[in-house]
Amino acid sequence: MSWKDFLREGLLETQAYEVPLPDGRIKLDAMENPYTWPEPMREAWQHQLKSTDVNRYPDASARDLKQQLRTTYNIEADYDLLIGNGSDELIQIVCAAFAGAGSTVLSVDPAFVVYQSAAKLYSLSFETVPLDDDFHLDLDAMLAAIARFQPAVIFLAYPNNPTGNLFNNDAIATIIEAAPGLVVVDEAYQPFARVSWLSDRLAENVVVMRTLSKFGLAGLRLGYMIGHQAVISELNKLRMPYNVNTLSMETACYALKHHTVFDEQADKILRERSRMQQAFGRYESLEVFASDANFILVRAGGAGNALFDHLLQSGIRVKNLTASGGSLTDCLRVTIGKPDQNDSLLAALDDFYGCANGTGPDTGI
Ligand SMILES: *Cc1c(COP(=O)(O)O)cnc(C)c1O
Repeated sequence: MSWKDFLREGLLETQAYEVPLPDGRIKLDAMENPYTWPEPMREAWQHQLKSTDVNRYPDASARDLKQQLRTTYNIEADYDLLIGNGSDELIQIVCAAFAGAGSTVLSVDPAFVVYQSAAKLYSLSFETVPLDDDFHLDLDAMLAAIARFQPAVIFLAYPNNPTGNLFNNDAIATIIEAAPGLVVVDEAYQPFARVSWLSDRLAENVVVMRTLSKFGLAGLRLGYMIGHQAVISELNKLRMPYNVNTLSMETACYALKHHTVFDEQADKILRERSRMQQAFGRYESLEVFASDANFILVRAGGAGNALFDHLLQSGIRVKNLTASGGSLTDCLRVTIGKPDQNDSLLAALDDFYGCANGTGPDTGI
């Protein structure tokens, strides 16, 4: 006997989630906000952290942070909040709550990869319904899958990752009505989509999940979930008491009080997104998908890996989704960076497609 014989089934064959280390390349692979904070804001923040007593445990119920979130986002007093170490942890908590033999987690394909890994972690079966050719919901197929699998949980990202688009509101409403279990509306990209499923009429089986990562604080690891008290109080039982540290909570409060700085950063990113969308559209061999997030999905028919390698050699790292297969074959997901970083990307594309710098592809005229 070895200790390995006691490991849970399938673990030895599983790979850990690997993320490439920053290597000096322009980093357009992880939906990070490229902007840092104005110096006076940075200093005031550091000044505030100086008086934090890290010898004490954090407030396990995160009262100040929840209050700040309520104020900043006008969250109904009737709803409760659950704070996670990134929304990744909240996805895990949801799966832990519905773990159990024979239960199913349903999502779409392609979807955020953590839904599947969290479902597997809790031995839930994971089913997906393919999105249509434009990456919209196939409502009939979703309803059929709901009828067939009776999913305990449905994850829908709004906008979706890695595709970037918002799903149709009526389709989401119909799915929620048909869902026998919980529906998680994942609004990681809400700072850019600027629409939300959150309202004062949230159905009891719906929770809205958000994160400060895409807002501009990926290093903090801070996610939150909003829903009816009945749901949140059950999920809260699975949260480790000190899952979020004092420094992250204090920083999050500070940042939320200064949210206009982040809103302006998002404005800049949105302006660059529309510039990049137009610029990408000039390359005939590049299929460009609509985006309501801070990234754009493109498909380089037949040349996904070659284009990815060319960008790497040009000092730019995007996310290569080719290995995911299916509709993501030859797809690259490009995070919107600062204007000069985006210019570098366009120059590398010109180079790849053999056209003059900045003029877009040579149409042969
Ligand atoms: C980035 C992302 C998350 C994870 O956010 P963290 O709070 O950083 O864990 C969740 N959902 C979607 C759809 C994302 O793209």
